[in-house]
Amino acid sequence: MIDSKEYIKQHVRTVPDWPQAGIQFRDITPLLQDPKVFRALIDIFLARYANANLNYVAGLDARGFILGSVIAYELNLGFVPIRKKGKLPFHTISEEYDLEYGSATVEVHTDACKQGDRVLLVDDLIATGGTMLAGKKLLERLGAEVIEAAVIVDLPELGGSKLIEQSGLKVFTVCD
Ligand code: AMP
Repeated sequence: MIDSKEYIKQHVRTVPDWPQAGIQFRDITPLLQDPKVFRALIDIFLARYANANLNYVAGLDARGFILGSVIAYELNLGFVPIRKKGKLPFHTISEEYDLEYGSATVEVHTDACKQGDRVLLVDDLIATGGTMLAGKKLLERLGAEVIEAAVIVDLPELGGSKLIEQSGLKVFTVCD
């Protein structure tokens, strides 16, 4: 029997030189497309966080929304979208950061969570760690406690997960 993590890993496709030369893009659409693999992935997160006493799952724009909202639904929790600049309609706070390619700003609604809320932060992948760290800062500015950063894939050679852990946030990666 194939190990479910190995099965998941096999469904993450590497697309060379996209969106620009030198980037090895990890495409999770083959994983999402296969219901057995998608379920196996979500089940790993559910087993890990079922008893984590969370208040919210926060997902990073955009693939973090797909994973985070399913995890939130299954754990009977609310979902907090952390969006790219200019997409959220209500009062927001923002954080600007550097990406593996370019720079970006993420935003969250000021009423998305409150002092003392325990929040799981979810995305598909960690590269330089900038996106995850910006999400953590936003949630902490609202007074929340980010309990872990959960992703499918880490690119350790880019040093992001190390930076995140140095900031005091634990990282959980499905595919090592
Ligand atoms: P970073 O902030 O550098 O850790 O980049 C992580 C964010 O950018 C995540 O939201 C990823 O979806 C996306 N990303 C960055 N690099 C890649 C890559 N090589 N393959 C797929 N997604 C990536």
